[in-house]
Amino acid sequence: MKKVNDLLRSHLRDFLPYSTARDEFKGKEGVFLDANENSLGSVHQRPWNRYPDPRQHKLKVELGIIKGIQPGQIFIGNGSDDHIDLLIRAFCEPGIDQIMIVPPTYGMYKVSANLNNVGVIEVLLTEDFQLDVPKIVAALNERVKIIFICSPNNPTGNLMVREDIFVILNHFHGLVVIDEAYIDFSGANSWINDLTMFPKLVVLQTLSKAWGLAALRLGMLFASLEMVKVMNLIKPPYNISGLVQNEALAALAKIELKDRFVQQINVLKQSLERSLRSFALTIEIYPSDANFLLVKFKKSAEIFHYLISQNIILRDRSQLVLCQGCVRITVGTEDENKQLMAALNNYLKG
Ligand SMILES: *Cc1c(COP(=O)(O)O)cnc(C)c1O
Repeated sequence: MKKVNDLLRSHLRDFLPYSTARDEFKGKEGVFLDANENSLGSVHQRPWNRYPDPRQHKLKVELGIIKGIQPGQIFIGNGSDDHIDLLIRAFCEPGIDQIMIVPPTYGMYKVSANLNNVGVIEVLLTEDFQLDVPKIVAALNERVKIIFICSPNNPTGNLMVREDIFVILNHFHGLVVIDEAYIDFSGANSWINDLTMFPKLVVLQTLSKAWGLAALRLGMLFASLEMVKVMNLIKPPYNISGLVQNEALAALAKIELKDRFVQQINVLKQSLERSLRSFALTIEIYPSDANFLLVKFKKSAEIFHYLISQNIILRDRSQLVLCQGCVRITVGTEDENKQLMAALNNYLKG
């Protein structure tokens, strides 16, 4: 069985990272003349003259408590998109290695691979948007280093069947990355609980969706200790700003509010779904474990453009495989959902 280190790009196996000025000194108080900061202070009223904690220790301790995992298994990034890029850069040799994706799915996996000159193998989901395990297994080869699986999936909204992911975890020599950006809305168990069994399993979550902190740019990666060690090795030293660390820490104390948002959004989703079901041009509303609905309309392109003319912006997904005629609709406030339905009914009256 291949280990994390065997998968790493060869030039990184004995890579010497930048050692920050504070790495050697663990104390709190001291005369810090090591990092060329402004010793006199900051033009800002907050003490921002000092570099932030390069390991984000406090934040990881708090996240560890919430997620039931030790801080050493957490890696924090500038949004999940940062993680996707770092994973590809760490494990995929440009021009040689490949990633596997299972469309229709989140677009950044492919964009990041393209940016890094890493090949992409695509194995379509089945008609009901589940993993096509026999085809995935058949398409695997030595060059494939990472499989990205999004669950609940964007843009389809469904969770992937657990047993299918187990089969892949047991068959594949590389990293299985499960993107759980929408897990809070689903009520399903996170794959974080399975990390002890699979050292090459990587789970991505984010504060951008359920927590309502998209502007903060904070993504969480959960994995084995050896995986996180690799990520720490290659990250820029001060990758998460002090401002973001402080604000995220304060926000994590409001987990009840996050849970209340999730409940409310799920109720609003059900009522939006009922309204859309009674709309004459709706062909299909796909089951969703996320905070959005994928909806197939008759005349979807016209509806999409009409809504834009009414200042209502949906996400056109009709160009994606298996998503012909589909738009993705984020659950809005009660009022926003009403405005959407009113505009749709106006379009009908035309
Ligand atoms: C929104 C989204 C993300 C992006 O997360 P950031 O932390 O905001 O970068 C990642 N994955 C999926 C599937 C998403 O839909």
